[in-house]
Amino acid sequence: MDYHTSGLQLPCPEHVRNVEDNRLWKRVLVERHGAGCGDWSTGWTRDSHGCGLWKGIMLGWNDFSAQVKFKVGRGNRVRLWHDRWCGDVPLKESFPALYACASNKSATISEVLVRENGRVDWQVTFLRNFNDWELDNVASFLGLLQNHCPSRVVEDGLWWSLKNSGIFDVRSRYSSFRESPSLIFPWKCIWRTKAPRRACFFVWTAAWQKILTCENLRKRGYSITSWCCMCCCNGETVEHLLLHCHVAGALWNWIFQAFGISWVMSGTVADLLHSWWNGLGRHSSDIWNFVQLA
Ligand SMILES: [Zn+2]
Repeated sequence: MDYHTSGLQLPCPEHVRNVEDNRLWKRVLVERHGAGCGDWSTGWTRDSHGCGLWKGIMLGWNDFSAQVKFKVGRGNRVRLWHDRWCGDVPLKESFPALYACASNKSATISEVLVRENGRVDWQVTFLRNFNDWELDNVASFLGLLQNHCPSRVVEDGLWWSLKNSGIFDVRSRYSSFRESPSLIFPWKCIWRTKAPRRACFFVWTAAWQKILTCENLRKRGYSITSWCCMCCCNGETVEHLLLHCHVAGALWNWIFQAFGISWVMSGTVADLLHSWWNGLGRHSSDIWNFVQLA
C-alpha cells in the first residue's frame, strides 16, 4: 500500500494512471478520509480514533510534496497560486503583491486559462487596477505565464524533482531524508555481506541508533529503568548493549582471538562497521565481513 508512489500519477501512460486511480486501497482511503486538494492525496484526519498507520504516513506528506512539481495539462487539478508548476516556488511566493490582490486566490489553472480555436489566453483577475510602479511586476508575471502555457490538453501530472527523469524512486527519497548529503553511511558493510536479511536489517537499525534499547524506549516516553539486560548495569544504550557491555565484550574477544588479532572497540556501531569492512584485505574478508553481523 503505497499511496505516495502509486497515487502520485507521475508521468506515466494513461492506462497505468487509470489503473492506479481505481485501486481498491485508494478508494477505501478516499472514502474514509476524503480527497485532498486536487485529488493528489487524501484529506487530513483529525479524529482521535481511526487508522494510525495512514495518519502516520500523511504526517510526511508536506515534506514529501515539497519535492514535487506539477506538470500542467488541463490544469483542473493544479492551483495557479499555490502549487509549484512554473519555477521553483509557487506564484504566491514569487509575486506576493499580486497574490494579495488576486480576486480568486484558490483558482485552478483551468479556471483562468481560456482555450479558444487553438489559442490560449490567461485571464487572471485582480481586485483593483494597478499603479504605474506596479506595472513592471505585472508584466513579468504575465510574461512568466505566457512562457509556461500548457501546450497539450492531457491530464495534469506530478514531477519528482529529485530525479532528472521526474519519476519517483525510493533511493532519491531516502537520500533526501539524511541530515547531511555528505554523510557516509556504511551501507556496504551491512547489505553487501552474505548475512541473512533479518540480521542485516537489525544491524542497519542499530547503526542508526534506533533499536529498542531501554535508553531509546525512555526517549520515546516509556518510564522504565535503563538497566542493561545482560550485565544489569545502568544505561542500556545501543553502544553499551552491542559493543561495550562486558558480556558482549567476551563474545567480541572470543571472535578476535579466533582470528588472531587485537582490536580496540569502536565508539559507535557505525564506526565499527566502517573500520571492520575488508579488515583482512579485500580478497580474504568474506567471512570476516560477515562476522560482525552474526
Ligand atoms: Zn551490559
